[in-house]
Amino acid sequence: MSRELKDSVAIVTGGASGIGAAIAEKLQAAGASVVAFDLRPEAAPEGVEGVRCDVSDDASVRAAVEHVASTYGRLDIVVNNAGIGAQGTVETNDDDEWHRVWDINVVGLVRVSRAALPHLRQSPSAAIVNTSSIAATAGLPQRALYTATKGAVLSLTRAMAADHLREGIRVNAVNPGTADTPWIGRLLDSAPDPAAERAALEARQPHGRLVSADEVAGAVVYLASPSSGSTTGTAIAVDGGMQELRLRPA
Ligand code: NAD
Repeated sequence: MSRELKDSVAIVTGGASGIGAAIAEKLQAAGASVVAFDLRPEAAPEGVEGVRCDVSDDASVRAAVEHVASTYGRLDIVVNNAGIGAQGTVETNDDDEWHRVWDINVVGLVRVSRAALPHLRQSPSAAIVNTSSIAATAGLPQRALYTATKGAVLSLTRAMAADHLREGIRVNAVNPGTADTPWIGRLLDSAPDPAAERAALEARQPHGRLVSADEVAGAVVYLASPSSGSTTGTAIAVDGGMQELRLRPA
């Protein structure tokens, strides 16, 4: 792999598991020094510094970002990837649930970006990449709250791209389809027949399989790299064609 990110310093929130861990590993392979902000920093991939950070706690976020700036002396890339799921409809999720999930998936992104922006302004090639989801555009059943948070991530991506364009900071997003991560593993394990549930989930993907975390990471590394220097305010779908082709399995 090209070492395009040599000398860069990157933060990946939720970088200790699943998609975030794959992003952290791929950024590192591209030459970046990577810090994973996570509730479980000890689970960060080898060679990636894990820092305990709860994106729903502003003091925790500010301390973690300042740690990176003072330890590494610069910050070039922020990947806002930490997120949690929620099932239900507008009738079944109560206000507490809305506040809890919104606070992590949306305001968490805002907190990390707010703390990071003064440092990103000093970078010769600054990029923010946000993890949204196919849910933002697909209208999935039983996902009202989760869908709303991921729609907000897409809207924020465009708003932040406009606000920070003239400062040389690019802001983009990735929209993964259902990806093979510990999160989906937990969902499958809670089903009466996990193997049958996995087969059904795979059959629902237009390309007949789950998305890999590594495939999502590839898109993130591109959006974080100078190679995508003219790309801002957009999202790359990594979903086997579901969003753009409106494909459903035959
Ligand atoms: P995961 O559960 O495997 O990993 C999420 C990581 O985020 C964990 O390490 C967890 O400790 C961390 N985290 C959770 N809350 C946090 C908090 N408050 N502060 C800091 N870290 C926190 O999940 P994943 O499947 O890798 O999902 C990662 C992102 O991708 C999420 O934003 C999710 O919405 C999005 N996504 C996932 C899928 C999928 O099918 N897996 C599809 C589309 C989008």
